[in-house]
Amino acid sequence: MSFRALPPALAAYFALLCALTGACLGSFINCWALRCVSGQRFPRGRSRCPRCGHTLGVFDLIPLVSWLCLRGRCRYCGGPVSPRYPVTEALSALALLAVGVTRGLTLRALELALMLPPLLLLALVDWDTMELPNGPMLLLAGLFLLFLPAHPAPLTRLWQGAAAGAAVFALMLALSLVMDKLLGRESLGGGDLKLMAVLALFTGPAGVVLMLLAASVLGLCTMALLRARGRAFPFGPALCAAGFLTALWGQPVLSWYLSLFR
Ligand SMILES: [Zn+2]
Repeated sequence: MSFRALPPALAAYFALLCALTGACLGSFINCWALRCVSGQRFPRGRSRCPRCGHTLGVFDLIPLVSWLCLRGRCRYCGGPVSPRYPVTEALSALALLAVGVTRGLTLRALELALMLPPLLLLALVDWDTMELPNGPMLLLAGLFLLFLPAHPAPLTRLWQGAAAGAAVFALMLALSLVMDKLLGRESLGGGDLKLMAVLALFTGPAGVVLMLLAASVLGLCTMALLRARGRAFPFGPALCAAGFLTALWGQPVLSWYLSLFR
């Protein structure tokens, strides 16, 4: 059922539910990413303040609300709490809200919603460690295969996605080898190449160009932000965001672009 077909009150409730679920998901994945960085495979035990070690209560863990009410400080030690918590929660809420509003209650919406946790985890772990773990990428590839029968032309989607993935991997590998020679350092990591190939499964051959364009723009923004702080630049977050946006809005953007030439 599409979002527009819902009665207004139900549509508002559904939108609110999407945003709240997205915010909670962002909070959980953020916690998972931080545990991953410290060597845990899955978050276990109660959340604690990374500064004072105090166990956090329910009211310290309400997505967005706790951070805003406590003005970005720990309730127990008064130390600053990173803005990455509200930023991740807000972005995740917006992403799931966009999925709900554009796709309604459909299998396509469920596929896009399930893409969100592995993409968030990849983006956050790459942000912290400059490395992209294989597990979430395998999960994304599995998701692509799982939802394949739900698409109108599954075989076409399969070969187009596989062709786009193989082509983008080969092209970007060749380009990165040339860039490595010219720059005298690694330009694109192996993880970035694998992530591009996995995301190309979802975008297909036409969407992959759009994804790379969006990733380049978002990557330049991230680079400018991190340069100012003297930090190294991970490409994963920009790629994850571009892949998700292309899977969500790639088709209408491409249709609009092609209509300009008719
Ligand atoms: Zn504290």
